[in-house]
Parts: sequence; C-alpha cells; structure tokens
Amino acid sequence: MTDKKIPRVPLPDDVRLDTLAVREGLPRSAWGENSEALFLTSSFVQPDAASAAARFANEEEAFIYSRFTNPTVMMMERRLAAMEGAEACIGTSSGMSAILLLGLGLLKAGDHVICSQSVFGSTIMLFGREFAKFGVETTFVSQTDVGEWRRAVRPNTRLLFAESPTNPLTEVCEIRALAEIAKTAGALLAVDNCFCSPALQKPIEYGADLIIHSGTKYLDGQGRVIAGAICGTEAIVNEKLVPVMRSAGMTLSPFNAWVVLKGLETLSIRMQAQSERALALAAWLEQQPTVERVYYPGLKSHPQHELAMAQQSGCGGAVVSFIVKSPASGGATLARKNAFHVIDSTRICSITANLGDTKTTITHPASTSHGRLTEEQRLAAGITQGMIRVAVGLEDLADLKADLLRGLASV
Ligand SMILES: *Cc1c(COP(=O)(O)O)cnc(C)c1O
Repeated sequence: MTDKKIPRVPLPDDVRLDTLAVREGLPRSAWGENSEALFLTSSFVQPDAASAAARFANEEEAFIYSRFTNPTVMMMERRLAAMEGAEACIGTSSGMSAILLLGLGLLKAGDHVICSQSVFGSTIMLFGREFAKFGVETTFVSQTDVGEWRRAVRPNTRLLFAESPTNPLTEVCEIRALAEIAKTAGALLAVDNCFCSPALQKPIEYGADLIIHSGTKYLDGQGRVIAGAICGTEAIVNEKLVPVMRSAGMTLSPFNAWVVLKGLETLSIRMQAQSERALALAAWLEQQPTVERVYYPGLKSHPQHELAMAQQSGCGGAVVSFIVKSPASGGATLARKNAFHVIDSTRICSITANLGDTKTTITHPASTSHGRLTEEQRLAAGITQGMIRVAVGLEDLADLKADLLRGLASV
C-alpha cells in the first residue's frame, strides 16, 4: 500500500550479526554524522499540505509525530529486527508495555492464551489478571513439559507465550516444539528473549512468530534506561501493532531508543564475556562446601544442558542461581538468614533485582522478585529461602569469587 518507503542503509545483503549490530539503522542525514543522531523532536515538518495528507493516510512512509514515528526509534527497531532475523520491530516504553501491546494488538475477548508458569512475575500478572478483565483467558503450564502445552490447546487458543531461560531457575523450554504446537493450533508463538538476546538465541530460527524484549536488560546493557520491543513479520508489526501504538501510545522515547541503539553495538561481546564469567563462577560455586545446588544452563548438572547449548549458541547466559547450604533442622528461617548473610557480605555486587548490567547484581528472589507469592506458591515454583541469584557483569572474575566467598566461608 505504501510505495514511498524510508530508505535502507546500503549494506551488502549477506552481512552477519556483529556487522548489523553496528551498522543497521537509517542512512546518514544530510550532515554525514558517523554516530547516529538523537532526534529529540515531538513532530516533523511536512513539505506541503498534500504531502502531509499522503503521509497521514499511510500512502507515503515518512516521519509525522514521535508517538509512532521517530528516526532514532526506527534505527533501533531496524537494528534489533536485523539481529533477531525478523522482518520488522516496534519499540515500546518498557518490556512490560511490549507485552501489553502484544495483547492489545493480537487478542480479543473470548481468546485463550497458553503461558509458561515460570515467566517474569509481571508477565504472569498481566496475562492472569489484567487481560482476564477484558475476557482473555490464560492457562499457565509447565515451562519444560511439552505435553502440558499440547494438552492445554483449545479451539480458541490464539497465543503461546514462553520465556527461556527463566528467572531465577534458568529453566529452558524447547522453542521448536512449542512452535509446532502453535502452528498446529493456528496460534502464534511469542518468546521473551530477554535472558539470551539475539547475540545467543534467535527464537525465529526455531519457528517463533514474535520476539519480546525488555531493552532495559542486556540490550541497553549498562542499566541506564527502561525500554522494550516486539519483533515479528511486517504484516503483524505494521498491520496489528503499529495502529495500536498510534492510538494507545506506549511509545519508546527517542533518548531511550538511542541508548539501546548504542548498547546493541556491544551486545555480542558483552554477552560472550558475561557468559564466560558466569560459567566459570557457576563451576566454582558448585565446588564450594557451603553451596547446596547451582542452577546454570552452561553446567553439565543442569537438567536441560544439551537443549540449552543447542538453542543458545553453546552459551549459558549470564544469570546464575544457587542455594546456600543450611541444616534442614534450621528450616526456612535459617535458610533465609544464611542467604542474607552471603548477600550482605558482598562489597562489589549491587544488591538489586535488575539484571543485564555490566555491574554484577545479587538478589534474594524469595523476598524480592517472588516476594508477592505465598510460601506454598514459591515452593511450587522451586524458589526456596536459601536461594540467591547473581546476574554476572564484567568485573574481574577473581574479585567476584572473593566477593561471594566472604559470606560463603562464614555461614
Ligand atoms: C525485566 C523483564 C521484563 C520486563 O521488562 P521492563 O523493561 O522492566 O518492563 C520482561 N521479561 C523479562 C524476562 C524480564 O527480565
């Protein structure tokens, strides 16, 4: 329908992820800037009234108003889409608003969703409580039991939603198997690719239809901004999602888009370096006498080690969880006390629930990210009071080990 398109960057067709991460976007402006420009403008001046009419009617692709069109945001969208191997992308104000946009764009009253029960806590609230208000019903199923997903399919199932690996247990789902179930059911599969990013995992290669991102995490990579995105086909993004964005305005700010755009340039080397440190730290934690169990997909002890290695470019990612050993007689109270002791003995790690930062973060899931659950729900989810999650950054590995050993040696 639109024959006048915004031009592409003149890159060769076959360039690879690391090149796309640095080069994909929009052609340089008339001023020849080498680093991408930050277009902080709410609206765009139209050459004449007839052009304005054509552009507002979608007959010509052009920038109109930054609620739904902005060059800096478009550069980030094109770069992320290229890295995910997707046709198109739409930036959003946060990871959660990406999932909100997904729901508003693709679901209606009477539709049914199947969602992993191990996804991000706010995602569970959005599907289970907010979308339910509008007549969209969600069945929550096991992250790892493909049969449970298959049995949950109904005639009105429109969407399957997964996240892999999950927080904090790093459970991996088989994306290819879920894509097949979705296809057979005539539904779409959306995968939250926050923990791996396209540097390690490209769900579209395994048949996923839509990729969700919290740009807040590894895409920014330095803990500066809140941002989100959905990648998918041009048909879905342009016809189902852009119109909702235009009406509803969960817009990504150009400044935040610019920060993420520049973050994407170093995503690949950060993910590699942070994964390497995480693997070494996880292997070391497994050797510590006061550590009961380590959860990390890069370890052979992880129940889905092989699937994770195949799906995630041979990398485990940068999130490691572990349980501090406590005598059973001490119960949950002692387990929590010991975990708090290890966390409070650190001097380098940041005590914060965020992740995806160059600064290593440490958190106690049972009292923070999963604090709103009852103890029963928490145990069903496998999150015990002795558990600690570390999102490994770029500090020196020896310093990180020493930081954790301080508490582990004295529990
Ligand atoms: C943080 C996170 C989100 C939400 O992203 P925000 O940018 O904080 O809104 C969604 N999914 C996963 C897996 C996350 O870690």
